[in-house]
Amino acid sequence: MGLIKLLPWIIIIVVALVYFSRQKQRREKEQMEEELCEMRRRLEERERNRDVASSGEMAQCPHCGTFFPKNEGVVKNGKLYCSKKCARLD
Ligand SMILES: [Zn+2]
Repeated sequence: MGLIKLLPWIIIIVVALVYFSRQKQRREKEQMEEELCEMRRRLEERERNRDVASSGEMAQCPHCGTFFPKNEGVVKNGKLYCSKKCARLD
């Protein structure tokens, strides 16, 4: 009756295989969720950037011609510059 002696080992091997495959599945799931989270974050960031750009909150610097968000600009003589350096040099 060699099979009876082998049975506990077979059970142990099967349990171990199930355990490892579940762990692998869980890891893959976690990785997928992480990637999904990252994708969502990037999408939100892009949406935010587009909102700023499309809502007319961008301005062009009269000195260097760079486009920048209006709320980050520097005002000098009623003109909006991208940086203090441009405001000073213009
Ligand atoms: Zn500038």
